[in-house]
Amino acid sequence: MRLILVGPPGAGKGTQAVHLAEHYKIPHISTGDIFRANIKGGTELGKLAQSYMDAGNLVPDSVTNSMVEDRLGQSDVGNGFLLDGYPRNVGQAEFLDGVLNAKGAPLDSVLELSIANDEIIKRLSGRRICRGCGASFHIHFEKPSKDGLCDKCGGELYQRQDDNEATIANRLNVYTEQTEPIIEYYKKAGLLKVISATGAVSEITTQAISALK
Ligand code: AMP
Repeated sequence: MRLILVGPPGAGKGTQAVHLAEHYKIPHISTGDIFRANIKGGTELGKLAQSYMDAGNLVPDSVTNSMVEDRLGQSDVGNGFLLDGYPRNVGQAEFLDGVLNAKGAPLDSVLELSIANDEIIKRLSGRRICRGCGASFHIHFEKPSKDGLCDKCGGELYQRQDDNEATIANRLNVYTEQTEPIIEYYKKAGLLKVISATGAVSEITTQAISALK
């Protein structure tokens, strides 16, 4: 299964990606997570990505594309992959097609998680992430049992630096202007499936799996 998850920030791509990757037994590749790990590790890539991420802008394609090409060359990708947060513009989508066609392993499906803008803002502004395992919580909708601590690993919860009002607004603009055109691109290629991203996490996973059959 070679799969892409598309949707605006806050649609729940990361949460669904974890469940779908487990279901299909494929690696979950999140470009945002790779950038955040590099920032945490103080690498050159992290230093380069940080200012773009803090402003809610896209990291330049030359950097992101070669990072993804590298990741797709690793041995755990033989069975397929689930890309979360990539591609984010038509240039990246074309680049990915080139990489996959060269391997003779084109995409199987692109799943769009669709959600209204006001719901996104509510979700992102209350989102909290675990420093230890990356699990996602919400101060109103998915409260951890102990304030500020992860239910899964006990790690400290924090608010992503780009989950503030001004950056959220820019991330939504970037999504509309740069990322949405890839939906048309994949529709034309006959790969697009769309499901609603509202409702219980497990229901959305069930809908995703049935849409991908
Ligand atoms: P995410 O965790 O997917 O919301 O990504 C967080 C941030 O990482 C984005 O706002 C971008 O700054 C950067 N980023 C993640 N994926 C990409 C990508 N495919 N292209 C460019 N920048 C990206």
